Amino acid sequence: MKKCNVDDTVNFIKSVYKTDNIYLHEPRFVGNEKKYLLETIDSTFVSSVGPFVDQFEGEISKLTDTKRAVGVANGTCALQISLELAGVKSEDEVLTQALTFVATANSISYLKATPIFIDVDLDTMGLSPKALKEFLEQNVELKNDGSYNKKTGKKISACMPMHTFGFMCRIDEIVEICNQWKISVVEDAAEALGSKYKGRSSGSFGLLGAFSLNGNKIITSGGGGAITTNNIAIGDKAKHLTTTAKVPHKWEYNHDKLGYNFRLPNLNAALACAQLEQLENMRNSKRTLFNKYKDFFHDTEINVVDIPKNTDWNYWLTSILLKNKKERDIFLEETNKQGIMTRPIWTLMYRLPMYKKVQRDSQKNAEYLEERIVNLPSSAIL
Ligand SMILES: *Cc1c(COP(=O)(O)O)cnc(C)c1O
Repeated sequence: MKKCNVDDTVNFIKSVYKTDNIYLHEPRFVGNEKKYLLETIDSTFVSSVGPFVDQFEGEISKLTDTKRAVGVANGTCALQISLELAGVKSEDEVLTQALTFVATANSISYLKATPIFIDVDLDTMGLSPKALKEFLEQNVELKNDGSYNKKTGKKISACMPMHTFGFMCRIDEIVEICNQWKISVVEDAAEALGSKYKGRSSGSFGLLGAFSLNGNKIITSGGGGAITTNNIAIGDKAKHLTTTAKVPHKWEYNHDKLGYNFRLPNLNAALACAQLEQLENMRNSKRTLFNKYKDFFHDTEINVVDIPKNTDWNYWLTSILLKNKKERDIFLEETNKQGIMTRPIWTLMYRLPMYKKVQRDSQKNAEYLEERIVNLPSSAIL
């Protein structure tokens, strides 16, 4: 086995990108982005309604093979609204993973509900159905109207697994377990646009799915997101709730509940539509990049994290697994010092002040990954 020093890695990445300052993930605009944006400005329909919003929603629904997609302002509010529509009420509890971006847990807190952190699988880095089942069997009582936490007495109304770096978690098993326990599933598919599991799209397994089109995701609308569902009535409610719950009328302002202004502006939808045309292009380029990384690290002590079984990946972010935290820190320090933006995986949620007291299981796998995973620059090269 070759020793792989950080300088070799830095030189390799610089040679691949043919530049000296390399970001973790930059957007790419090589298609109709400017054209659609100018069309939007010329039309004056830059705000919360317009033809690009409708087109975007149609295309997301087609891409994810779901019956309804609703464009929203960002991925975080897509999660919040999805949870609300899945029936999460204040004082409820929601099962999720601690190894995630903070927005996952925050969206639960915005509803005044509390997360419970369940461990992840090592290969998918997403919520583990085995750990989920164990937690439910040991800590939860199934009653006629749903599942209740024996320790707190509170209702567990939803489970929100996350598809880490676009890898798919074992979502079919998770849905099956949650069905048995009368728990709704919301997929945090923020990172997984275009990924599939056993031939089915991310965002189509749970009652609802939430996507992000933030600037660092595989495609971007500047800021933006989408809610997907196969339940048309729920899809209509998502549109209503994110449109200030306004009752349609020619001129009257009537709102039938507490709604939100979470709409996706037509200006952002225009950018999203142009980016959707580039998704396959982006993905092909990132696949080539991933394979280059694999070849480079082959037979070294550094392992590129490989695509888990059954995942048809969108190749969003390539990650490596280092031997221990010390090696991880050296790698991060050296690469960043030399102009290569590498990043660790997220700090586990229960280390953050807001989530210190949250109930959790062993977190053995989450802690193992937290100490060792580093993301490499993964922008498409077009
Ligand atoms: C990006 C991201 C979000 C939030 O999306 P925004 O559009 O930035 O609000 C939520 N969850 C995960 C896992 C993400 O990566």
